[in-house]
Amino acid sequence: MKGNIGVTTENIFPVIKKFLYSDHDIFLREIVSNAVDATQKLKTIIQKGEMKEEAGDLTVHVSFNKDAGTLTVSDHGIGMTEEEVDKYINQIAFSSANDFLDKYKEDANAIIGHFGLGFYSAFMVSKKVEVVTKSWQEGSKAVKWSCDGSPEYTIEECDKADRGTDIVMYIDDDNKEFLDEAKLQELLRKYCHFLPVAVAFGKKKEWKDGKQVETAEDNIINDTTPLWTKKPADLKDEDYKKFYNELYPMAGEPLFWIHLNVDFPFNLTGILYFPKVHNSIELQKNKIQLYCNQVFVTDSVEGIVPDFLTLLHGVIDSPDIPLNVSRSYLQSDSNVKKISTYISKKVSDRLQQIFKTDRKDFEAKWDDIKIFIHYGILTEKDFYDKAKNFALFKDTDGKYFTYDEYQTLIKDNQTDKDGNLIYLYAQDKDKQYAYIQTAKQKGYSTLLLDGELDVALVGLLEEKNEKCRFTRVDGDSIDRLIQKDTPAEVALPETEKEIIEKVFSTQLPQIDKINFNVEAHALGEDAMPITITQSEYMRRMKDMSRFQQGMSFYGEMPDMMNIVVNTDNALIKSILSEGTEQTKAKLTPFDNEIKGLQARKEAIDSENKNKKWDEISQESKDELDKTEKAIDEQRTKKTEVIAAYAKDNKVVHQLIDLALLQNGMLRGEALSNFVARSLELIK
Ligand code: ADP
Repeated sequence: MKGNIGVTTENIFPVIKKFLYSDHDIFLREIVSNAVDATQKLKTIIQKGEMKEEAGDLTVHVSFNKDAGTLTVSDHGIGMTEEEVDKYINQIAFSSANDFLDKYKEDANAIIGHFGLGFYSAFMVSKKVEVVTKSWQEGSKAVKWSCDGSPEYTIEECDKADRGTDIVMYIDDDNKEFLDEAKLQELLRKYCHFLPVAVAFGKKKEWKDGKQVETAEDNIINDTTPLWTKKPADLKDEDYKKFYNELYPMAGEPLFWIHLNVDFPFNLTGILYFPKVHNSIELQKNKIQLYCNQVFVTDSVEGIVPDFLTLLHGVIDSPDIPLNVSRSYLQSDSNVKKISTYISKKVSDRLQQIFKTDRKDFEAKWDDIKIFIHYGILTEKDFYDKAKNFALFKDTDGKYFTYDEYQTLIKDNQTDKDGNLIYLYAQDKDKQYAYIQTAKQKGYSTLLLDGELDVALVGLLEEKNEKCRFTRVDGDSIDRLIQKDTPAEVALPETEKEIIEKVFSTQLPQIDKINFNVEAHALGEDAMPITITQSEYMRRMKDMSRFQQGMSFYGEMPDMMNIVVNTDNALIKSILSEGTEQTKAKLTPFDNEIKGLQARKEAIDSENKNKKWDEISQESKDELDKTEKAIDEQRTKKTEVIAAYAKDNKVVHQLIDLALLQNGMLRGEALSNFVARSLELIK
């Protein structure tokens, strides 16, 4: 018998080949899962007692013949009668096929799912397909359907001893790779690894006399009862670890896992693992595999699980995730939304549970899991509300606190005069060691925030909690970071302040991409003579620019460092008095000159006080300009005098270098000069 396949489009096959080309690997999944379906249907029939004969071995076989150019998938499932072949294979329910194909050109999964085109995907790789089938029903005759890729097909009676179906694909010349053992092995592993009916591909091999030889035993490529289909109560930790290892042979041990199992209001099973990641480079999205009744669908779960959970590993199996729709539609699907919320809640419940029942274990794992939790906190509003109860801070001594515990710890001592709670933190325990010690002497605690997302987290916490501020411990001198109600520092007379600032600013080395700003402050006799601080704001912006697009402007800017000179320190005091002494005679004439010029400037200013800019005479403007320039000139001359004094002052250089050294900024020539000078000083 001959006939035309019931497709409204002129010729579906070129369409299939063209549009599905990019993803043509999936034909094997489609054909093998049809075989599995037919087998499972048979099992149901047997269970109901409707079939009299012996079921026999139900293994699905995948085989290929290079010479004949065929790839065959055989099952012992229900098979089809001639009428069924006509109904299921010939009459493909096509309506508005063109519209649909246009819309979903890019998405092979969508087309296949939508039309139940599973079987026809065989034509992506075949020039001819034969279906040889015999129904389970008593007295059925075997039939052979054959089609060469045109809408014409033939169907005829044939000989077939066993019940079931053979799909014989005559692989076309462009797709010879599908007649390669290794390639087929790879595809079967990817798509059929957990199918619920045994699938055999060739025979098991074993080593004999240094060669691999085939045994008589079928090579079963799948695990028909994967772990996620089992009851959690029946499973041990070892089982979960073993399964993880099977899924991700290179990944090491997981930190912990969550077994998902829900059947209302949607059906979903799965296991999610928290992987152990050593650094953020190893963090990869899309390691979770998505299955539909144990058939592998995709490893892109974006839109199905909350973004931060795409970093986890594991499997999700749900027949309720619509696979035949575009990703953007997926996100608006109400079932998918429920699924996403469910998964997120499960994860936070589990974390909360571990935290509660075994805080020690939770703390031990914290450094490894915090990247996931921080990512969740930053991207998922609901997750923050849950996570704030078990998220931890770690201080620089390695102790862990919940957010609440830590707040209680520092509340009394680290609230400033305006009622702001100041959280001190370090990003590097070694680099900021001296600052941490200084804070400790004041009885302050310093957090260690050394994770990739900590800068962003800090911003979020400041937003969520009123009157709280985070500042890196070297953001300023400690008493200015946490300002208490103590009397304001006694300001140095302006002239002395100028001398001390210029003594240091003129002697600072040039360092690429670092700008220094010298400030004199009275920080107490015991505090260091010089500390280097970096403004919290600029540093944070620069940190963020590394992660966020559109902020590269900050990344380009040089680091702004403050050199804070402590005018209470004995060494600084003696530099100041000696410097004042030695420069006085030279500076006095400039000071007098400046005084005169400033009086002149004030006179001009007051003359023009009530005038608009265009009412002021040009003469007056020029005069003002000249006076200002003259003041600058005098100041420059003063600076030169101070610089000349400071240049030969070894203590000044030694102090600067020590401060730079402490911050890892003394390098190259400056470092060897320092060493040479130090040797000279201790001689
Ligand atoms: P779907 O599997 O989505 O229904 P397919 O195009 O893959 O769509 O298959 C169409 C129909 O053909 C199936 O529903 C089934 O009834 C029948 N069929 C396909 N393959 C087999 C098989 N190996 N054994 C029995 N019936 C099959």
